[in-house]
Amino acid sequence: MKLYNIKENEEQVSFGQAVRQGLGRNQGLFFPSELPKFDDIDSLLAEDFVSRSTKILSALIGDELAEEKVNSMVDAAFQFPAPIKKVKDGVYALELFHGPTLAFKDFGGRFMAQSLAAVSNGGKITILTATSGDTGAAVAHAFYGMEDINVVILYPKGKISPLQEKLFCTLGKNIHTVAIDGDFDACQALVKQAFDDAELREEIGLNSANSINISRLMAQICYYFEAASQMSKAERENLVISVPSGNFGNLTAGLLAKALGLPIKRFIAATNANDTVPRYLETGKWDPKPTVATTSNAMDVSQPNNWPRIEELCRVKEWGLETLGKGAVTDAQSAESVKALYDQGYLCEPHGAIAYRVLEEQLQEGETGLFLCTAHPAKFKEVVDEILESDIELPAPLAKHAVMELLSEDLDNDFDALKVVLRRVQK
Ligand SMILES: *Cc1c(COP(=O)(O)O)cnc(C)c1O
Repeated sequence: MKLYNIKENEEQVSFGQAVRQGLGRNQGLFFPSELPKFDDIDSLLAEDFVSRSTKILSALIGDELAEEKVNSMVDAAFQFPAPIKKVKDGVYALELFHGPTLAFKDFGGRFMAQSLAAVSNGGKITILTATSGDTGAAVAHAFYGMEDINVVILYPKGKISPLQEKLFCTLGKNIHTVAIDGDFDACQALVKQAFDDAELREEIGLNSANSINISRLMAQICYYFEAASQMSKAERENLVISVPSGNFGNLTAGLLAKALGLPIKRFIAATNANDTVPRYLETGKWDPKPTVATTSNAMDVSQPNNWPRIEELCRVKEWGLETLGKGAVTDAQSAESVKALYDQGYLCEPHGAIAYRVLEEQLQEGETGLFLCTAHPAKFKEVVDEILESDIELPAPLAKHAVMELLSEDLDNDFDALKVVLRRVQK
């Protein structure tokens, strides 16, 4: 597999390099030079999740890793299902939260851990990642206990749900969690600064596990196929998929699935009040505003990292950006949709409800709608209970962590202070 840096096209890397490096020069994202295309989608969809995903990922990775190797990686990473649930006629929820940390980020995080182990050349590795909640949990659990890999996770202090914090800040061992005095964009900026520091990067074997790492996106392609495989052929021919978006990795993966041949009629980019992309699609002006806190906090991102990849893919495939649906949803509206879904017998948290709301507004006659449910409702228990006046039950993984002690340290939004931490955890 060859990939190029979107910002500096002459920088070309292999899959292994892209996984190890994360970002290219000048903070450029890597993008595949060639995308395979599956012609016989029906027989691909007839396979089971692991075999099909192996074929997809193996076709992407090419001869750098043997298919059997990819198969064992997929098998280790995807040990939980991605079922679709019918919410009403012609509308389905894709539940991506049946992994160990109850959010879709388990798919990417776990496949990335497998990929990194497969392509590492033996040196020291420090994973540095910024999270608005779910990435951190998925990465922490995916790498927990792995030898020679230190994980440092930055998150905005007080801006993620207490339960979410418990899920990944209680592990210890090789997992170090840091609460930054700032918002998610500040955390992301610190990570970028660290990557720009060539000396530090070399010294500690810096690697990122953000959705900027190509292996995570590749893993996420697979569940779009898995969703389609659970529908009848007639239903999937007119499929419209609504993706609750923050950093836009999930939507990038969906568009890549389409590029590989999955027949998806159109996508909808659904955001909360952090609506940089919907406004951009409307006006053509990229005009990020300061990030605002919402009840769908995993999407509180105003400068989405993966957007350049979507632009690049649309350019390469000659898909007009205007074909993307879009919509921004307020907290009050997402609460309404959580209620509406509940009344129809489906328990959903605000991220999924945002995708549902925009889908409902835009789905047309004869189309099948699919909205992505990115987190288990209990992961956002405080918000969901307040909206529904309920007391939803915690699933086992959350209940276990809820009573454990927080191990995070607090840190100013300051790069020098972060460097001290990064060097300390090496010892
Ligand atoms: C990360 C996350 C999102 C946003 O996904 P992106 O790939 O960053 O757009 C949506 N919902 C939940 C629950 C998340 O954790």
